[in-house]
Amino acid sequence: MADRTVPDYDILVHCIHCGLCLPHCPTYVATGNERSSPRGRIRLMKSVSDGVLPLSDLFVEEMDFCLDCQACETACPAGVKYGALVEAARAQIYEEKKERWLRRLTKRFFLGWVLMKRTRIHLLAKVLRWYDRTGIPHALSESGAVGLISARLDSLLKFVPKISGRFSSDELGPILMPVGEDTRYKVGFLTGCVMDVAYAAINEDTVEVLRRHGCQVVVPCDQVCCGSLHAHNGDYANADALAKINIQAFADDSLDFIVMNSAGCGAFMKEYGHRFAHDPFLAEQARKVSAKVRDITEFLGEAGFHPSTQPARILKGKTISYHDACHLVHTQKVYRQPRDLLRSVPGILYKELPESTWCCGSAGIYNIVRHGDSLTFLERKLQNIRSIAPDILVMGNPGCMIQIAFGLERDKSATSVMHTSTFLRHACCSEV
Ligand code: SF4
Ligand code: SF4
Repeated sequence: MADRTVPDYDILVHCIHCGLCLPHCPTYVATGNERSSPRGRIRLMKSVSDGVLPLSDLFVEEMDFCLDCQACETACPAGVKYGALVEAARAQIYEEKKERWLRRLTKRFFLGWVLMKRTRIHLLAKVLRWYDRTGIPHALSESGAVGLISARLDSLLKFVPKISGRFSSDELGPILMPVGEDTRYKVGFLTGCVMDVAYAAINEDTVEVLRRHGCQVVVPCDQVCCGSLHAHNGDYANADALAKINIQAFADDSLDFIVMNSAGCGAFMKEYGHRFAHDPFLAEQARKVSAKVRDITEFLGEAGFHPSTQPARILKGKTISYHDACHLVHTQKVYRQPRDLLRSVPGILYKELPESTWCCGSAGIYNIVRHGDSLTFLERKLQNIRSIAPDILVMGNPGCMIQIAFGLERDKSATSVMHTSTFLRHACCSEV
């Protein structure tokens, strides 16, 4: 396999330095610094790759400051695969241990240990759930004590997702039959890591919508985290180790599709084929798995969506808008399908969100490791939400939900966030 921890010079030279990506880059727009733009970062990568510049703190800072939102890829007329470049640069930084020790330790604990096994994710989730049930976090938050010690820690604690009462990997599967009609499709389903323990109800909503659209849903019990957080943060070895397990877990040739409800996971599983293209044992299977991956909105766009004539009361007469998760719109190019599905539901008013494709600042673990910057990017998203004040803002990624819900709560906004799958379940099952 090629050494992927050094940015590929062949891709670097595709950049024609036209600058058309600059107004689409949140970090460039926020700072006005050329070096914080896609073009500037590409120049830095090329200088490091040519040996003109060392792998300095400045280089580490700029690769780290990038959101990996890939808005620049959408804007680029030369087809520069910027996401692959920044991830390779981060892998080089990770390999050469150039990050600050606390960040490195945090990443190695969460990415290199917790997320590598489902049992560890469940263990940590159970500890968090127990801690939440003691009432201590609520009491600390109400008293303002944490804020007196550290405003950053106080803010960060609000990003810890509420752990579900039951984990979806314990509840779903291994095979769920379609509701009320013959099997039209046999689809695999990834329960994910955060989705499994913090958004189990959304996983159930997704499976229910699939079952009501003629799907037999297979939930392989040996599946693991998709590995996207690892790859985006430069930990290629663990990303590949997880991907290999999932390629085997979803190797069933009788599956028509593999349906996803998390933008980051879907984007990364679509990349498995490319990542293992030169692996003599896995190339073919990885290619087949990637070719079957569909976001839930893509799948329903192809298979047909049948909303109820009487959607659930929670949607009736509501103004609905949609936020595009970066790894759905920029990486997977899924833009039209969610809008078509939302607009097809009777009794709602759909309003387009201004700058809906602008990153909310969540960006994987960016809102943890660069908390202050992530709040700056969140503010622009909140301004756009305030400008149309929808009742419900729909989106297809857990990270965006945590980030935007945090901002809306701080705003005391009347707008609530809802995952696309939950919206679709309410739209097609009026009894919910
Ligand atoms: S990925 Fe996003 S933040 Fe990074 S350079 Fe591209 S547009 Fe800017
Ligand atoms: S739009 Fe593409 S080619 Fe132009 S500067 Fe940006 S990355 Fe380079």
